[in-house]
Amino acid sequence: QPDLLARRDATFATVQEHYYDDPPRIERGWRHHLLSTDGRAYLDMVNNVTPLGHAHPRVEQAISRQLRRLNTNSRFHYASVVEFTERLAALLPDPLDTVFLVNSGSEAVDLAIRLAVGATGHPDVLALREAYHGWTYASDAVSTSVADNPNALATRPSWVHTVDSPNSYRGRHRGEKASAYAPEAVQVIDDLAADGRPPGAFISEPYYGNAGGVALPDGYLDQVYKAVRRHGGLAVADEIQVGYGRLGTWFWGFEQQQVVPDIVCVAKAMGNGHPLGAVITSEAIAARYRDQGYFFSSTGGSPVSSIAGLTVLDTLRDEDLQGNAVRNGARLKSRLRTLAHRHRIIGAVHGSGLYLGVELVRDRATLEPATEETGELCDRMLELGVIVQPTGDHLNILKIKPPLCIDSTAVDFFTETLDRALTELGEDGVAHRCGPVRPGG
Ligand code: PMP
Repeated sequence: QPDLLARRDATFATVQEHYYDDPPRIERGWRHHLLSTDGRAYLDMVNNVTPLGHAHPRVEQAISRQLRRLNTNSRFHYASVVEFTERLAALLPDPLDTVFLVNSGSEAVDLAIRLAVGATGHPDVLALREAYHGWTYASDAVSTSVADNPNALATRPSWVHTVDSPNSYRGRHRGEKASAYAPEAVQVIDDLAADGRPPGAFISEPYYGNAGGVALPDGYLDQVYKAVRRHGGLAVADEIQVGYGRLGTWFWGFEQQQVVPDIVCVAKAMGNGHPLGAVITSEAIAARYRDQGYFFSSTGGSPVSSIAGLTVLDTLRDEDLQGNAVRNGARLKSRLRTLAHRHRIIGAVHGSGLYLGVELVRDRATLEPATEETGELCDRMLELGVIVQPTGDHLNILKIKPPLCIDSTAVDFFTETLDRALTELGEDGVAHRCGPVRPGG
């Protein structure tokens, strides 16, 4: 094992972040569990790439069968790609009826930006601060999360503009006052337009994933989308983390904000681990892009990718996994809230369905982030058999986004284990000043 880690670090680009300094070697998974080569089973609380669970036999069989028959590119004519695009379009409201198939979230965001800039003729793009949208040139350009890149804001290309992170828990405007974010963002858009640089696109997660699953303030996207469109721009929703049923109540994050974007980016969950991404927009926007740019992806929409995508959609439906996100998500959130009464370090429990965030603070009044404690807690949780990781710009939020097939036994095991680890952390003498639990996002 140490030898394998050394070999990894010798050749695998070290700019990539890895889980844990001393990681277990994971070679198998089953449902919401990961199995290490030294024989331990871990509860996987972070894997939103496999919503159906690890090693789902239906996906494995569908992909294997298709690999034995045909895999090629979508310039050829075959049924699965037609069925898959129809199924995706049917999941979205009018006028979102035109689907581009790619292989990842970064590609989807990159294409969405190109579509918006091409269709509007406006090269400037507006994004939220503290967001993450991908690693390709354009998706990285609109990513300003300092957890991923400490120089993120200082190194933006000149066509990228940002607005304040509308975080109602720890941002500049908190609680009720969070309604101030939208007018401020509208002002930025109006100012850009007055300056002759109206944004061709406004991109955001419609439910704030990188902040640990905090809902945007009510009406935020409605006001911002209207302002962007008033100046000829388009609204892009990055549904890569929060979409596809994970929020439980809503299949898409934008439904929570009661808006319809012009362009939607999807990936992660779509293939249950098989690389898949999509951009869905209106025929009119896609047609305007035709004169501006080229699109073709060799493996996007391949027969294997299309079959994987269709099988994931069928299984999500047949196993009622969005329903499970409602039920076990509510059980989990309520148990986490109970823990917050006993452990003062829990400042808030954010999120919806099976996209939750437990934000850890040293002081509930100042919200000083408990960054080191969060890291320690995750290491201890690993020893106790649970994989959970920190997120957010201060890395002080436990990101909780398990496979959607998680059951009540696993939910209870997680909260009991977290209770134990938090108790040990408290006993170690970390000083927490008390204050009221804030409701969170
Ligand atoms: N957008 C969001 C919100 C994401 O969380 C991610 C991945 N973490 C991406 C885009 C990029 O997706 P991918 O890793 O598939 O390129």
